[in-house]
Amino acid sequence: MSDKTLYKGFTMIDGTGKEPISNAWFLVKGQTLVKIGQGDELPSTEGVNVVNLNGKVVMPGLINSHVHITMEPVGDPFSLILSESLPKTTLRGVANLKKHLLAGTTYFRDLGAHGGIDLALRDSVKAGLIEGPEFLVSCEVVTMTGGHGWPMGREADGPDETRKAAREQLKAGADVVKIMATGGVMTEGVEPGSPQLSKEEMEAAVIEAHKAGKKTASHAQGTEGIKNAILAGIDSIEHGIFLDDEAIEMMVERGTYLVPTLVAPYFIVEYGVEAGVPKQAVDKSEMVMGSHMDSFRRAYEAGVKIAMGTDAGTPFNFHDAAPHELKLMMDCGMTAMDALVSSTKTSAELLGIDDKYGTLEEGKFADFLVLDENPLENLDTLFNINSVYKLGKLVK
Ligand SMILES: [Zn+2]
Repeated sequence: MSDKTLYKGFTMIDGTGKEPISNAWFLVKGQTLVKIGQGDELPSTEGVNVVNLNGKVVMPGLINSHVHITMEPVGDPFSLILSESLPKTTLRGVANLKKHLLAGTTYFRDLGAHGGIDLALRDSVKAGLIEGPEFLVSCEVVTMTGGHGWPMGREADGPDETRKAAREQLKAGADVVKIMATGGVMTEGVEPGSPQLSKEEMEAAVIEAHKAGKKTASHAQGTEGIKNAILAGIDSIEHGIFLDDEAIEMMVERGTYLVPTLVAPYFIVEYGVEAGVPKQAVDKSEMVMGSHMDSFRRAYEAGVKIAMGTDAGTPFNFHDAAPHELKLMMDCGMTAMDALVSSTKTSAELLGIDDKYGTLEEGKFADFLVLDENPLENLDTLFNINSVYKLGKLVK
């Protein structure tokens, strides 16, 4: 069989934000999009497989910028993960990878795992041992002693220690360093609004990551902690629940990305204590949801770069739920086109993989989705994807 396939007759949303192109075609050679065009004048089909996609819509695979691949989205994921063996958690990761892929996520970024499971999974996908989206990993999160996520993180206090903690993750093979700037919803006794690691502590870790050519992400919910992280040079604010106008201005000025993860508190509140979510997490989520959505709305209007991320693995935040995040972003005023761009091109830019992923352009990898309807008119079509192609191969 030839390693060349011509896909034709579809409407293409290329992920750049440009208007869809009707009657489009592209030629895939191996894993790569080699030629893209429009109209009935097609390249020679001699020795080329031809796939007719008449009436279908094709867009880039989704890129989820915030995932916890080893976490099971039950009511209390942390208690579960801390009570089971590493091999069991690893197998959960294998199963979860498949869920992301079949639901149209062809690339993601894991932002916190323990025991080196994320590294093993990442490398196993790369080696073709298991099937899943490719992904970047942060290894253990860097947090202050007793700070958010401490049961599975690397506790560090003072710039010397955060520097060392970042170096440890990079040495282990991390693609990105994740730093806790504030408290959060899930850790008992920790308030989402309170600042945690200081600007100086974060800066030391950020410098190490950037020296190694890697990005940084900060869990940052409260206003003061968000500003500390921005001033420390962080690449992305994860969650960004309490953004004031000054923080938004700082992000625009410095090009700091926002990864809102609106679905995380949404599902905690939706399912609630009855479903087994710890009461403290439900209470805190209820408290922050309004501010979260309001912060997103103002950041979007001000022109902050927004990358899509779900925080999959938190309570009832399932590993196939990315379209819910797009819907919530749209509920908060984002256009459908911007929601798609945020989930493809902008996420690829944040992850630093936009040279090869995120849009359908010549020379990029053939990661794409075939949809029965136009998601710009009906986003729900993303919940029921016709087919998924990863590196030129049909996986669903
Ligand atoms: Zn997270």
